[in-house]
Amino acid sequence: MLQVQHVTKEYGKVLACNDISFTLPQGSVTVLLGPNGAGKSTLIKSIIGFLRYQGNITVNGLPNKSPEARRLVGYIPEIPALYPNLTVSEHLEFLARAYRLRNYKERADALLDRFELSDKKRKFGDELSKGMQQKLNICLGLLPEPQILLMDEPMIGLDPHAIRQVKELFEEMRAEGRTLLVSTHIIDSVDMLWDRTLILQNGILKADITRDALEGSGQTLEELFFSVTEGLKPDQTAGGAE
Ligand code: ADP
Repeated sequence: MLQVQHVTKEYGKVLACNDISFTLPQGSVTVLLGPNGAGKSTLIKSIIGFLRYQGNITVNGLPNKSPEARRLVGYIPEIPALYPNLTVSEHLEFLARAYRLRNYKERADALLDRFELSDKKRKFGDELSKGMQQKLNICLGLLPEPQILLMDEPMIGLDPHAIRQVKELFEEMRAEGRTLLVSTHIIDSVDMLWDRTLILQNGILKADITRDALEGSGQTLEELFFSVTEGLKPDQTAGGAE
């Protein structure tokens, strides 16, 4: 379980996250929606422990910056952080060593296979296309089998096959009881997959709604998004326009 309580982050005069609180239960997929600059990356980087902030974040009751919590949480950054002089295989090996993973090779091979990178094992980070870099980035985030996985715009730059692989992975991870938080500004990329949606705007958590509650309200996710972020009524949104 991931608990975020009263998290506030300021960059100088910019209030990127303003008193944000929510709890994500185990075995759920939550999408974090918001326009560019809403504070999504800042919130994710706060959860992973990369930033200083005010407030409290715990993972299964442990402070998020504790070594025990860090082992439970995985992160797939928006921009792949690859080393130009390491090969694809070496990236996976490096990560496995950092996390002290045992018997990781079979899993690494299965991930490379799944993301069609098996024939790229000897390629260096800077020899990969943007999409391949993002796929390797995803493999690296998945290799340690985190209990909680944070993904910042994971679909950007992926081809349709890879997008399908990522969506299948979401489903598998949820079925295994893992917790996923996926940020995006493209609503269509995640529709059908989520159990819960958080909508951020100007650093404020404007909506926190489960799929059941949204379906009960008769609104689509797109309608909710525009009603929350632009104050539009459902029939004024792009999704509701005839
Ligand atoms: P999102 O991920 O939703 O696009 P961000 O979390 O990247 O939003 O940004 C939230 C706000 O914080 C924006 O106004 C952005 O300009 C600002 N911001 C983000 N990172 C920094 C930084 N390192 N220094 C100063 N301002 C930043």
